[in-house]
Amino acid sequence: VPATNLKKAGLKVTVPRLKILSLFQEKPYSHLSAEQVYKTLHSSGEDIGLATVYRVLTQFEEAGIVVKHNFEANQSVFELQKGDHHDHLVCVKCGLIMEFCDEVIESRQETIAKEKNFRMETHTHCIYGVCENCQD
Ligand SMILES: [Zn+2]
Ligand SMILES: [Zn+2]
Repeated sequence: VPATNLKKAGLKVTVPRLKILSLFQEKPYSHLSAEQVYKTLHSSGEDIGLATVYRVLTQFEEAGIVVKHNFEANQSVFELQKGDHHDHLVCVKCGLIMEFCDEVIESRQETIAKEKNFRMETHTHCIYGVCENCQD
């Protein structure tokens, strides 16, 4: 329930926060830019400005509700913090983002860090390419 999740994160329940959180919870595997969130809300008749969307997404990121990625230089996308670890495939033509998690890659990275006597805290792994729909 979005309202409960907001309160748990220490955020007051407001209409924009509720609407934006609901949007992410309806599609837990989506990776959305602020503009995409704004457009989706706008097309379903919500009167929430782009500046508000930016502000709420920043608050959500600080509260650990969403995770921000910068797959492309000038574009941030946000996804629901699902508490899992996964890596991403990014289509350079249409911007499609898919998730994957591969045990072999995960354990190889741990091995490499260990070999270098490096204490790994986190990693990001992203494959850039062309998705099935954009291959012609
Ligand atoms: Zn594509
Ligand atoms: Zn993701």
